[in-house]
Amino acid sequence: MTTVLDQSAMERRALRHPEKASNADAPMLRKPEWIRVKAPVSRAYAETKAIVRAHNLHTVCEEAACPNIGECWSERHATMMIMGDTCTRACGFCNVKTGLPYALDLREPENVGSAVARLGLKHVVVTSVDRDDLDDGGAVHFAETIAAIRAQSSTTTIEVLTPDFLRKPGAIETVMAASPDVFNHNLETVPRLYLNVRPGARYFASLRLLQRAKELAPEGFTKSGLMVGLGEEREEIMQVMDDLRTAAVDFLTIGQYLQPTRKHNAIARFWTPDEFSALEQIARAKGFLMVSASPLTRSSYHADRDFLALREARRHLPTS
Ligand code: SF4
Repeated sequence: MTTVLDQSAMERRALRHPEKASNADAPMLRKPEWIRVKAPVSRAYAETKAIVRAHNLHTVCEEAACPNIGECWSERHATMMIMGDTCTRACGFCNVKTGLPYALDLREPENVGSAVARLGLKHVVVTSVDRDDLDDGGAVHFAETIAAIRAQSSTTTIEVLTPDFLRKPGAIETVMAASPDVFNHNLETVPRLYLNVRPGARYFASLRLLQRAKELAPEGFTKSGLMVGLGEEREEIMQVMDDLRTAAVDFLTIGQYLQPTRKHNAIARFWTPDEFSALEQIARAKGFLMVSASPLTRSSYHADRDFLALREARRHLPTS
């Protein structure tokens, strides 16, 4: 008997981003001196890694090749990425593996709860891959994870960074019913660049998701993030800020896009630290309660201390 192996199919399966394989190679720009990161060498880093592995979890820190992992994990801040390591979308900027995901791990919410307790986190960020294959986009799994964290660490504040739940009616209601302390969904870029950067998403659907989260839990905090360096104009960022304020978003993060491989979106330019400071000032003037803008800012970077500052900022708001 002869067994015929479909070599090309096997190679496709082995690729981390099969949909990008035919993209033309984009040049990789040399990083400027202001993009410097801490090497992952500390003992706390190794302990964080051991806890993540022992609980069979994925983190966006590793999957997205985040430049801050050395610093964050040395402080035991790992951002949990639930619902597997394989994403059903194919965003042009993202390093998370794409393809057909496995079935949900039903023990995962408990495992996340237990890992958060072991890490002793006062604030945790939970994100996920996109699960367009699930009827609810994974909303129930998010809600169960929030409940499992609360059951084991009742004082830990919880921030969820969710997908857009596009065409998943009732999903945002399910997540918000679990009462996360912060609801985060990243717009990522300006609407003109969506087709290249977030081809599976729709700008106004993402904006509406944020607005809906605030309608459902006005006392909670909402947050969104942008990457710069993809070719956006300053005026376009101003427009996105205004759109986010119209959706009553409280907290804006802005960081420099870094290109994972030659097959990903190219970097148009590096914004300077002074330009980030200027963006932060403008965003604060537009009324965000909290703004974090720097080359290495990411959604979950310093999320614990930023959450405290966010709560403090609301406390000092003038009462009407
Ligand atoms: S910034 Fe966020 S994703 Fe990056 S290492 Fe820190 S916690 Fe992980």
